[in-house]
Amino acid sequence: MNAPLRLNAPTPVAQDGDTAPLRSERTCLECGQPYGAAVRHSGFCSTACRQAWNNRRLQRGAEVYDLFMAFRFHRPLARALKLLSALNRLASLYRDEDRHKRAGRPSWRATDVVLASRPYLRAVRMTQRRRT
Ligand SMILES: [Zn+2]
Repeated sequence: MNAPLRLNAPTPVAQDGDTAPLRSERTCLECGQPYGAAVRHSGFCSTACRQAWNNRRLQRGAEVYDLFMAFRFHRPLARALKLLSALNRLASLYRDEDRHKRAGRPSWRATDVVLASRPYLRAVRMTQRRRT
């Protein structure tokens, strides 16, 4: 026999105590279409959308990585080659591509979400300076 229908029944919650609904209406980060999220923090309506999102980030990240590392750790060379300008140009190209191919939807996650998932980035580094 089926359980009686209860109006205003509580939404099922995760066993870890998170009170966010397990199935809620979300907007896919990749295609922008609404979908019912069975998994919290999934972000995507399908495997294809998740892969498209991650593949673009991998490709763009690979382009940025070498330039950023040189910018950070080889400052004289970075200045001579104007790497900061090159990085900014890349970001502008990515944004232009997003405008055309993604109807202007950003291709990056919210900064607060990224930082919340990486608390070590906000940690204060405690190192002793060597006295010379
Ligand atoms: Zn999608």
